[in-house]
Amino acid sequence: MGPFAKVVIFILIISFGVFSLGLNRHTPIGALHRTIWIHIPKFVTAVDQRLTGGRITGGLSRGVNRMLYDRHPTVVIFFFALLFGGEYMFLPAAWPHMSWLAKLIALIAIALPYTFLYLACGGDPGFITAETHAYHMSLYPYDHALFHPGRYCETCKLLKPARSKHCSICKRCVAKADHHCVFINLCVGHGNHRWFLSLLLSTAALTSYGGLLGLSILSGVIKNRFPGWSVWPPAGYGLNSYLVAWSWAMERDISLGATTLFATLTSPLVWALLFYTLYHVYCGTTTNESLKWSELGEDMADGYAFTRPIRRGRERDFGIEPSCSRWPVEPEMVVIATADGQPPVIHQGMPPIAGEGDWERVWKLKNVENMYDLGFRDNLADIFFRDYAFGRARDELPFKSHHQC
Ligand SMILES: [Zn+2]
Ligand SMILES: [Zn+2]
Repeated sequence: MGPFAKVVIFILIISFGVFSLGLNRHTPIGALHRTIWIHIPKFVTAVDQRLTGGRITGGLSRGVNRMLYDRHPTVVIFFFALLFGGEYMFLPAAWPHMSWLAKLIALIAIALPYTFLYLACGGDPGFITAETHAYHMSLYPYDHALFHPGRYCETCKLLKPARSKHCSICKRCVAKADHHCVFINLCVGHGNHRWFLSLLLSTAALTSYGGLLGLSILSGVIKNRFPGWSVWPPAGYGLNSYLVAWSWAMERDISLGATTLFATLTSPLVWALLFYTLYHVYCGTTTNESLKWSELGEDMADGYAFTRPIRRGRERDFGIEPSCSRWPVEPEMVVIATADGQPPVIHQGMPPIAGEGDWERVWKLKNVENMYDLGFRDNLADIFFRDYAFGRARDELPFKSHHQC
């Protein structure tokens, strides 16, 4: 397999991992994902159980568990090494060809990802502890669709604030949990979402800048050697000789050539990750919530989800549902999916369900509002400014149902 094929396969594997976050259980990709991660391991475990009493898979799964379900800095070190190694190879080769402005931009472009990596890794992603619990409860109101009041985290023994999630790797609940990110060895949540976005943006800018700068230096070298050659192949210039000129230049300065190629190939991937993240911001969801919405959408399509209206100014148990004065919207309906396809029934000892009147089946996500979506600008401001106040309560907000997302 040639190096190019290896790079393509590497990128495909990463993309599969990244985009499988948005899996839908009814798609062929979803079926493939389940086969790889559920059915095959089950089969292997069963065979090992029979042959060795489960010794091989037991040891293997302890190792894999440590890799997957415990915090460890392997990927952070790998990411750091890629950044540092790339710069170490690129800069000495490129420096003599650069103007003072290009040098200045390069120094800033190099410094920013390290800064944001440090801020994203080093800070508190919004861990919910007994001390911070009250603050995190006050951040977001319950939407009564994805997040219902009165639910406890069984591990942390604390009421789950709206938009929070227990992370099995960090082993704590995280406020406005987005996802656990191996690149920073930490959850992305309320406390570091802004640094995570800044890290993605600065890394995307760095790889693009490095790629473009390297390509422009290399093309200058080629033009000196092959008169008549230009970046856009001139008419009559064969594709073969055009590519031969590129590979000549890359081999002539292998470290500049390799890092330029690497930056050029990884840059689209980083931009794709950035846009994927910004898309969630646009939709007013976290990665965690977008998974929950798609599950709820499937329950709706199967006829297992029910809704009933919530009256404004209703009585509330402030012990489990604190008021969230900064959020400009109140929930208007309860949405609940049941296990048996029958309207919800409240049993003894269960937390109460808000809303009044009869339950109605809801079939489509577009009939439900996402009250955490206040429009891209406000969604983004909520990430970047701590305790961002949206101003007075607004009746008309640019709601988008998340079915568009
Ligand atoms: Zn927890
Ligand atoms: Zn985590």
